[in-house]
Amino acid sequence: MKTLFRILLLLVSITMTAQSTYLHCGQLIDTKSGKVLIEKTVIISGNKITAVQNGYTNPKNSEDTVIDLKAKTVMPGLIDMHVHIESETNPKKYLEAYTQNDADVAFGSVKYAEITLMSGFTTVRDLGGSGVNVSLRNAINAGKIDGPRIFTAEKALATTGGHADPTNGAKKSLIGNPGPKEGVVNGVEDAKKAVRQRYKNGADLIKITATGGVLSVAKSGQNPQFTVEEIKAICETAKDYGFHVAAHAHGDEGMQRAILGGVKTIEHGTLMSAETMELMKKHDVYLVPTISAGKFVSEKAQIKGYYPEIIVPKALDIGPKIQDMFGRAYKSGVGIAFGTDAAVFYHGDNGKEFGYMVEAGMPAIETIQSATVTNAMILKMDDQLGQIKTGYLADIIAVDEDPTKNISTMENVTFVMKNGVIYKN
Ligand SMILES: [Zn+2]
Repeated sequence: MKTLFRILLLLVSITMTAQSTYLHCGQLIDTKSGKVLIEKTVIISGNKITAVQNGYTNPKNSEDTVIDLKAKTVMPGLIDMHVHIESETNPKKYLEAYTQNDADVAFGSVKYAEITLMSGFTTVRDLGGSGVNVSLRNAINAGKIDGPRIFTAEKALATTGGHADPTNGAKKSLIGNPGPKEGVVNGVEDAKKAVRQRYKNGADLIKITATGGVLSVAKSGQNPQFTVEEIKAICETAKDYGFHVAAHAHGDEGMQRAILGGVKTIEHGTLMSAETMELMKKHDVYLVPTISAGKFVSEKAQIKGYYPEIIVPKALDIGPKIQDMFGRAYKSGVGIAFGTDAAVFYHGDNGKEFGYMVEAGMPAIETIQSATVTNAMILKMDDQLGQIKTGYLADIIAVDEDPTKNISTMENVTFVMKNGVIYKN
């Protein structure tokens, strides 16, 4: 009893002397209202924001620290809804699938995670890899390595020969018979099993490849690859585990099936028709644009040998169409969830997407709201992330210029705090 009392006393004294950090913010973006506020002090204690005050207030306690961000624009940590944190584009990538072990992938991913965090993305939704992504998330949460807060799909789901069938393009003696365990499903029972397997493997959400894709070794970049029944089975099973479902889709038919099947986000959305835009709104489904990926693949497809031959015509066709579709979807009132597909281009360049969105007609402040409040809501983290607000997690970043006047400043984040810890200043 005496020992317990001592421990309690110790805990109390630690709490009493816990250091606070005072951020003096010249400009502060209120992501909820979309207003840029001036001269605010944000107080952080532990991993939480404990107060947001008017003007520049100074601590009474000498242990506390003041960080001068008076010349900067401060906002909540950014959220990218579409990255593949395990890997990154390079001309040898297709061979690496057959030469790299999980440990090789893991060592590479440590660097990508750190670069992502340092570029201001304090949270990411990882839309598929080999399973190393789960271990990476756990290592970051345990404080073993630096990186963003990760919500991962683990391995994306596909049908046989579909965009995320891991054996596409391989010689027959190497492919085995991939099934729900490997994320390859055919039929309703497989679909349920594949979702349950992802739960068992430690995923946070489900990703499906509803249509063909650009970078898989297969002919079509847009054909529908699941039946509505299969997608419904996936979405209904996902609900049992508290998962939402993200659907990769370039073609319109596959997109419509995904929406009717119950997914929450459409990734890319390249050939989305006006009718499908209406369907998106009706079913409260969000578009994750990934304009950056479209631009990058159409550029690299010009370099002979960068991608396998079968990919080149798909990249040249689909890549340049995403930005224009995004502009039309935004104008028609489709909900937009910021996401880039980092890994298809270089990790750390995620911030370029803001400029591409503005170019296509979305106001700068709305692009930032998309990357904060909207994404936090889809992740069901809107009571903890996406705003600089008392009681919220202290994920805070800053840029040198006002992004509503110069959006390219989002490519150069100069202050990063995640969970109350400063990673970059
Ligand atoms: Zn992707």
